[in-house]
Amino acid sequence: MNRREFSKHMLMLGIGAQASCTVDMSKVDINLGNYYEEPAKKLPVRKFDVVVAGGGTAGVVAALAAARQGAKTALIEVKGYPGGTVTEGGTALHSFYNLWKAFPGVKKRQVVRGIPQEIIDRLMKVGGTSGHAEMSKGYDFDSICTAIDTELYKLVTMQMLAEAGVFIAVNTMLTGAIMDGARIKGVIAESRSGREAFYAKSFVDCTAYGDLAAFAGADYKVPNDYACCNSVGIGNVDIDKYHDFMKSNGQIEQIAFGTRSGEPDKIVRVQGPRGQAFSAEANKIGMSSVTTTVHDNYLMFIKCNFKVPGTVLSRDDMAKAELEVRKRMAKAVELFRKYVPGCEKAFMARTSPTLCIRRGRLITCDYDITHEDVIEGRHFDDDVMAYGFHDSAPRFQVKNGGTYGIPYRALRVASIENLLVAGMMITSDHRAHMSTRNTVSCMGQGQATGTASALCAAKNCGTRDLRYSELRKALVNGGVYFES
Ligand SMILES: Cc1cc2nc3c(=O)[nH]c(=O)nc-3n(C[C@H](O)[C@H](O)[C@H](O)COP(=O)(O)OP(=O)(O)OC[C@H]3O[C@@H](n4cnc5c(N)ncnc54)[C@H](O)[C@@H]3O)c2cc1C
Repeated sequence: MNRREFSKHMLMLGIGAQASCTVDMSKVDINLGNYYEEPAKKLPVRKFDVVVAGGGTAGVVAALAAARQGAKTALIEVKGYPGGTVTEGGTALHSFYNLWKAFPGVKKRQVVRGIPQEIIDRLMKVGGTSGHAEMSKGYDFDSICTAIDTELYKLVTMQMLAEAGVFIAVNTMLTGAIMDGARIKGVIAESRSGREAFYAKSFVDCTAYGDLAAFAGADYKVPNDYACCNSVGIGNVDIDKYHDFMKSNGQIEQIAFGTRSGEPDKIVRVQGPRGQAFSAEANKIGMSSVTTTVHDNYLMFIKCNFKVPGTVLSRDDMAKAELEVRKRMAKAVELFRKYVPGCEKAFMARTSPTLCIRRGRLITCDYDITHEDVIEGRHFDDDVMAYGFHDSAPRFQVKNGGTYGIPYRALRVASIENLLVAGMMITSDHRAHMSTRNTVSCMGQGQATGTASALCAAKNCGTRDLRYSELRKALVNGGVYFES
């Protein structure tokens, strides 16, 4: 029904301006102009040393690192909990270790430590992780996979943030930047408590979408080079029967054993053939095949991949995609019930609250990590962490099972003086991004940026004026591992 038909319909019903209404809405002209000019408004100001935008994979660690350096730190997160994509998207945390197995003579070593490892330790105490589970099969792909209980991750990280004295602004969306030339003076945050300004000396953008960088006027691109995805957790399944079913269809392709429901040496990751009928239907909904868990009777992260026609920055494109992916998730559970023994009474136990992206905005930084840097295992004179995982292994792997460095300059936003970024927003080359975007890399970047922003705030300096030797010392004190 269009507007004219609507009015006619209402008149026929005897409803309209002539009816005995106390308010005559026909006098409110909604047809005037395409823009509304907001009146200026005074906002209450909160003051901090460091503001971290986005409390996801990288942001949690950034806020913890900044607060532990003694900075008065605020974390602004639009959802009601911290964790971001690590709790919503993927299979398991990849990876705290180098990919050593394909290289005889190369030693297994844990290359990401510090706060990311502390989170795993805390999770282990409450039964919230498989631990660092070594692949027994499919080892040339990823040698260690660390699965988490997504709900306990949210709780444990929020507790850690509170213990560190971080001002946790959840259910709060960052909607603007207040600039003073090339410096950010503050950000605008909106919540049910109203619109507020958060002033600070240093800022870290961990929003995945690069919202703060974009509001601040940084250069960016939108590569749109990945499928989006939503993941569904399936309850009431029998993991051992599921494994046996795949085994009966042919060879198990990937398997890892770790802690499951408190017991060691249980299957926590498995991939194998699920039969032709299942596979044909699974392909139609973009369902991926690797499954992980940390609990009996539960398959986490059944992923339905979907390339959004349009862009992940468009609300309307994403609205259509959200509906499409919800249909696919329901279908995914149906397929498990129909085809997989042990899943006859499976149900949708959790879904990601919104579509997960693998990349939103790509923010231009002082340095862009190349694929050569990654596979050649290059280190830099301003390394802030080492990393050794590649999501495209064995096709692409770090040379000799080693590591490459993430340099500080790759996290400094070009043209903005007091803004760092961490997470999926860096690295333009898709192949290199297949390494830097992984969770454990994002977490390490979080510790680096949080530490650096706190030091900058303490010294009242911009991100480019911070002495590397001081940053390195603080990172080492925070437990960060360096190769040399
Ligand atoms: C489907 C999928 C599967 C994956 N599988 C794996 C895997 O198996 N292993 C692996 O290691 N990696 C995997 N990855 C990659 C990895 O999970 C992500 O790259 C990583 O978690 C991104 O971390 P981040 O900190 O950049 O973003 P996020 O963790 O998404 O954090 C961004 C946070 O910012 C918040 N936010 C956004 N905008 C605003 C705003 N304006 N105001 C306030 N808050 C805001 C969000 O709510 C969110 O909490 C996968 C990714 C996806 C999407």
